[in-house]
Amino acid sequence: MIHITIDCEEWNSPYLRGKKDLDNFNTQFSYDGNTRLLELFSKHNVKATFFITGYYAERHPSDVLRIFNAGHEIACHGYEHHYRNRKFDVLQDIRKGKKIIETIIGEKIIGFRAPQVQYSLRLLEVLDSLGFEYDSSLHPAYLPGYYNNRSFSLRPHGFPHLQIKEIPVAVYPLTRLPIVWTFMRNVGMWWTQRAVNKLIRKKIDPVLYFHSWEFVKMSSDNVSFLFTRNTGKKFVSMLEKFIVVNKKKGRVFGSMKNGTETNS
Ligand SMILES: [Zn+2]
Repeated sequence: MIHITIDCEEWNSPYLRGKKDLDNFNTQFSYDGNTRLLELFSKHNVKATFFITGYYAERHPSDVLRIFNAGHEIACHGYEHHYRNRKFDVLQDIRKGKKIIETIIGEKIIGFRAPQVQYSLRLLEVLDSLGFEYDSSLHPAYLPGYYNNRSFSLRPHGFPHLQIKEIPVAVYPLTRLPIVWTFMRNVGMWWTQRAVNKLIRKKIDPVLYFHSWEFVKMSSDNVSFLFTRNTGKKFVSMLEKFIVVNKKKGRVFGSMKNGTETNS
């Protein structure tokens, strides 16, 4: 099973780089991106997982319901998306985000991904205490200067002292090069497809992540072109091609929650 996952949040990429920008904390980009994604997923009968911030959910409760009613899994992406210039308690922040979303959908949520995939053991302990069943914040990638997570497992795994399970994001199995969001968008679909084929041969269900805002045309003088290039309809088409190619190969797309159920 292939898991398409969408991080749905306020746009804050300029803010995270210390830039003043009129679009900082804009939530409309993600809303518009979700409109296109829901259309695409419904056309190809794909079920996905949306990791949503509490900040976004407070501003667009009807969008959260729209995604939920379309049969996708709703999961938590913290309350606010930025970790910079903000004093906060991780437990309180996640509890707040979780509660806002659960109140909207009227159902318990079980999955979490940290903003900026800030994975740590402390995070897992907090999530475990809040009753989450899985986390997908581990990006076991090698990207010089950014990540060196080569020593982490590529497969879903548990921990002796915790109930929670970690389901890592997909990367190239040997080189650990990243294949999600900006990497697929800027290098091309073939790059992600090759890694997905390798992972499936190793019986690992690929977890891919994108952001809602990547599916609207973004432009900004305050971020690198890697954030904006090929966003919008171009990326919708690329993702559609990816879905079609993999469906032809007989592969199934499902939410993380459903994958967790089949695995156990
Ligand atoms: Zn995010």
